[in-house]
Amino acid sequence: MKIIAIGRNYAEHAKELNNPVPTTPVIFMKPDTALLKDNKPFYHPDFSQDVHYEIELVLKISKEGKHISEKFAGNYFDEVALGVDFTARDIQSKHKEKGLPWELAKAFDGSAPVSNFVPKANFADIYNINFGLNINGETRQQGNTKDLLFSFERIIAFVSQYITLKKGDLIFTGTPEGVGKVAIGDRLEGFLEGEKLLDFYVK
Ligand code: MG
Repeated sequence: MKIIAIGRNYAEHAKELNNPVPTTPVIFMKPDTALLKDNKPFYHPDFSQDVHYEIELVLKISKEGKHISEKFAGNYFDEVALGVDFTARDIQSKHKEKGLPWELAKAFDGSAPVSNFVPKANFADIYNINFGLNINGETRQQGNTKDLLFSFERIIAFVSQYITLKKGDLIFTGTPEGVGKVAIGDRLEGFLEGEKLLDFYVK
């Protein structure tokens, strides 16, 4: 199983980090050791003083495919979940300055909490899904999939030109604006269309 993530897929988030709005999807990956399930606590790594939360919609790939056309890409995922793309922003900033890869900032253990999956058929329109994140009971991020720069189909088509997608692979599809730092003791709650799917603590 691999985790593929899309950076800068909501214009307002790209702007808040002073990044240009991309013209093709920005891709990075996390290893399977990043996956955190069942609302287990996230252990704050001591190598970063600025770990950020990024709430994201996550797709689960339902069958193997490569060179998938955008037209048929919708057949390659049946379920969606909420995930948090934890990012060591201090490390990422240093690496961005030097033009180095982001893995140390993005791929560390536990950096990808993912909720239970929900059938995409539950949603009347997958491009009108509200999702958000509360920290200690306060709303910090609120997004809607209508604001995606690159659609789920476009992402699957794009990624599968380079990397074969396999059943069970996860795709983090990008975060809306409002990212910020987490601290030990914080409680994170993630909502998908009002339903609480994520609820865990930073330890
Ligand atoms: Mg992200």
